[in-house]
Amino acid sequence: MRVQRCTSCAQHYFYPRPFCPRCGSGEVEWTAVSGEARLVSYIINHRPLPPFDPGTPIIVALVELAEGPRLMTNIVGVAPDPENLELDMPLKVEFTQREGFTLPVFAPAGAVA
Ligand SMILES: [Zn+2]
Repeated sequence: MRVQRCTSCAQHYFYPRPFCPRCGSGEVEWTAVSGEARLVSYIINHRPLPPFDPGTPIIVALVELAEGPRLMTNIVGVAPDPENLELDMPLKVEFTQREGFTLPVFAPAGAVA
């Protein structure tokens, strides 16, 4: 997984843009990150979610990468039940294909795939 990083202040950030949101520098680069994250918040959505409808219910989550940026994504690899979702739980990135796009999703770290 890659996100942008400022080469002036070393801040990782998401979403992608041509300048650093922290210091304004245009000296930015794409860099590989660990793919490790933690669960910040989530909902379990029971309604269809076009155009990417992988089947419902689906876990829509806010995760924070180990490098700092937060992003909206889906949690996979567990049943969509609050019993399986503990805030701050460690997560690991996986990639899924939907409608011709490759999207990052997250599974509990150490989960059996
Ligand atoms: Zn910066």
